[in-house]
Amino acid sequence: MIFHTLEVRHKALALLRDGVANAEVARRLDIPKGTISYWKHMDRAKRGECPGRRPVTFCFACDDKVPLDKPAYAYLLGLYLGDGHISFPRQHRAPSLMVSLDDAWPGIQSECEQAMRRVFPGRATCRVRSKGCHNIKVYSQHLLHLFPQHGPGRKHDRDILLEPWQETIVGAHPWEFLRGLIHSDGCRITNWTTRLVAGERKRYEYPRYWFTNVSDDIRKLYTDTLDLLGLEWTECYRHGNPYNISVARKASVALMEAHIGPKY
Ligand SMILES: [Zn+2]
Repeated sequence: MIFHTLEVRHKALALLRDGVANAEVARRLDIPKGTISYWKHMDRAKRGECPGRRPVTFCFACDDKVPLDKPAYAYLLGLYLGDGHISFPRQHRAPSLMVSLDDAWPGIQSECEQAMRRVFPGRATCRVRSKGCHNIKVYSQHLLHLFPQHGPGRKHDRDILLEPWQETIVGAHPWEFLRGLIHSDGCRITNWTTRLVAGERKRYEYPRYWFTNVSDDIRKLYTDTLDLLGLEWTECYRHGNPYNISVARKASVALMEAHIGPKY
């Protein structure tokens, strides 16, 4: 067995950190490629950079000095309140956050997965095919800290209130939060009509946004955010109960179009 001096090893690691390929480092220092790969692996493990294994010891909710991608969090919170679910599968040590998203909107599935990666850097995400949809999942020991709204039973059977730090984030990134809510429990429909203009019949389209959720608290989070942004909305009823929130006024729809737009 050949022993390499610490100096040679440090020289190799410096080259690797500069982005020099393993084979090139091996050639320059006349060391077997396998040894270089091993040193690289050990160096990355020591710095907690192994893919999928980064130990996340803290989250923003545990310690507000830990960085959090707040726009991505506001979006993911909206998705979670709409169609998200936290569960504790026995075979995994960490709980999982799962958001079920319709296969009609593959762009939203990707946006959700990206937001998960930004909120939980270094954690693996996955997509599980289900009937007509995909469940987008991420596992983390800190899920319940970042989504303290989790509790037994269904969301509409319990109080859904934001923690003060969550309110601050939603207040700073209201459009991302609305986008998450619309992407999960909302829809954009187009009504149309025709009108005579200078003797010619013209077709006019009127987009309109709906948000549907049986939880009074979640609907209130949605309408409070609309109020914050100065958007007009109306509440619609089903079987005598408030159910849908509609945004249909021209100026308000124009803002929704600019910030959210059609599902994709
Ligand atoms: Zn935490």
